[in-house]
Amino acid sequence: MKLKLILGLTLAVLLSACGKEQAATDGTAASEPAQTFKWKLVTSWPKNFPGLGTGPEKFSKMVNEMSAGRLQVKVYGAGQLVPALEVFDAVSRGTAEMGHSGAYYWKGKSPASQFFTTVPFGLTAQEMHGWIHYGGGLEIWQELYAPFNLIPLAGGNTGVQMGGWFNKEINSMDDLKGLKMRMPGLGGEVLQRAGGTPVTLPGAELFTALQTGAIDATEWVGPYNDLAFGLHKAAKFYYYPGWHEPGSMMEFTVNKQAFEKLPKDLQAIVKVASRAVNQDMLDEYTARNNHALKELVGKHNVQLRAYPEDVLAKLRDLSEEVVKEVSEKDAMTKKVYESYKTYKDNVQEYHSITEQAFLNARSK
Ligand code: CA
Repeated sequence: MKLKLILGLTLAVLLSACGKEQAATDGTAASEPAQTFKWKLVTSWPKNFPGLGTGPEKFSKMVNEMSAGRLQVKVYGAGQLVPALEVFDAVSRGTAEMGHSGAYYWKGKSPASQFFTTVPFGLTAQEMHGWIHYGGGLEIWQELYAPFNLIPLAGGNTGVQMGGWFNKEINSMDDLKGLKMRMPGLGGEVLQRAGGTPVTLPGAELFTALQTGAIDATEWVGPYNDLAFGLHKAAKFYYYPGWHEPGSMMEFTVNKQAFEKLPKDLQAIVKVASRAVNQDMLDEYTARNNHALKELVGKHNVQLRAYPEDVLAKLRDLSEEVVKEVSEKDAMTKKVYESYKTYKDNVQEYHSITEQAFLNARSK
């Protein structure tokens, strides 16, 4: 009788242990079907625009494949669900679960946001990705966006941009005075310090604004993107380098509650897919910009011009002043600036004997 009871108890314990082990391995009970999540992703770009717009489309495809359809992300072009420059607010309040844009468009929310796209005469793409992922950048960015109910992730990079489209030559600082030019972020503030009038407009409005004379000049991204908008039909001089945007990083934003509702594996998929898009976009620009520039110059007779060295030197001095002043606006911006600047000083010193020294050596 006693033996039977002991055997019975042992069996019960074993069965229960087996059950627990099985549940732990599966992660879900076998009887429950996996939950499917359907997300909206709003962007600041025309639907499927080369690079900037195809990045989030690739993200959507990757996430769908990696999750076997458990996370489906529908991408909206600018204006389809919300206007281009309302992506931040839309994701913050949960109108869409995700956004794809540029952090410098949100300088009205916090001046610190601009450091997470680009800084005039600042970090290159390679250096920026180092700051974000290994230099403490991502952690401060998360802190900056937390009060807005947003989780930020790196979402692509253009590399060094072009200096912009003009209908007159820029031979001295005087040529920038009174110039009404589309230039977002900190670059725009530097232009203002140089006597110009910076304007922030979404990409899709640039061609018309330039052609009608609503603006005198514009920058956008680089040859691959500028050709797609036909900017060469509205201006003849194409300046380089893009001192104002030496490696503009795009951003994915995720609504905090939406992210927290995902199981751990889908959260990991979101992070990994955005990281893949971040690198993929830079790879695409690197491979395609040079071909697009040949087409602009060879086929469309665009006049390529370098900014004069003394103009660049003055803009560099102004940039240093402006960026430092912006950093003094509030404690959070100061924290971001100090992290960015410390990292930049160190990496710039090292790159002067590696990347820079090599590129100089290669070009001789
Ligand atoms: Ca730009």
